[in-house]
Amino acid sequence: MSTTGLGVPGQHGAPIVERDTPLVGGAAARTTSGTAGLEVHEAPRSETFALVRAGDLGSLHSWELVTAVDGPGTRLTVFLSGCPLRCLYCHNPDTMEMRRGEPVLADDLLTRVERYRPVFRATGGGLTISGGEPLMQPAFTRRLLRGAKELGVHTAIDTSGFLGSACTDDMLDDLDLVLLDVKSGLPETYRRVTGRDLQPTLDFGARVADHGIETWVRFVLVPGLTDEPANVAAVAEYVATLSTVTRVEVLPFHQMGRDKWDALGMRYELADTRPPTPELVERVRGQFRERGLTVY
Ligand code: SF4
Repeated sequence: MSTTGLGVPGQHGAPIVERDTPLVGGAAARTTSGTAGLEVHEAPRSETFALVRAGDLGSLHSWELVTAVDGPGTRLTVFLSGCPLRCLYCHNPDTMEMRRGEPVLADDLLTRVERYRPVFRATGGGLTISGGEPLMQPAFTRRLLRGAKELGVHTAIDTSGFLGSACTDDMLDDLDLVLLDVKSGLPETYRRVTGRDLQPTLDFGARVADHGIETWVRFVLVPGLTDEPANVAAVAEYVATLSTVTRVEVLPFHQMGRDKWDALGMRYELADTRPPTPELVERVRGQFRERGLTVY
């Protein structure tokens, strides 16, 4: 159980306040280009549905070119809109709803992937599909993965795994790396953090490992929310069962996403939560190391 008394009894995850104003801009504390350089594809509703169903059109929050995050080398990270989770610490609450994104053609994104191919080659980088939740738009994600593989580009998705059942085996075939966000190890803590069930994440991680896909696990360490030794131990115990995990990233909570919650008119429940102390971070990293895992 949390020791900070955060949240409202009986309510899990973050509340959503509907607003009509689309917010498009940078993701978290990272400087993105929004959807700059990509054409916003406006089409009649019927045509839009057909394109979305075929995976040719998706809802994009933003993109950025990054090095040393989101996978190896220099990467084009695309942030898709829409997420079924409501994490209390979400850095990108403006990606939670799909309608806040911009309609973009897969071909336009893939043209960009092709443009950066020399950079990917030189650095061992590639394409990372993040969000939001990439599996919220499975057809679009599938199309991007396939297109990137046809270009010979390394691929990754950054996912909570909650919608893992939407990831088909042919999508797994096109994945070189999965960044799996395991937000907690105890079901009740997971629900408190995200508003959803833990089990689909566990199932997806196991399936990815069975498929032989390299996996980096991410765990956000939030004092008073995810830091309980039993919760961390449950994550570590689970991750140790996944044979393809090559690293665990313990990400210390920070307040840099806070302004977005305010801008969206959403109640932010972690306003009084402080980043973890170096001692706490080390304790948690140690819990993963005790399981024989490589920790960053
Ligand atoms: S899964 Fe990611 S994008 Fe979705 S609510 Fe949680 S932190 Fe935000």
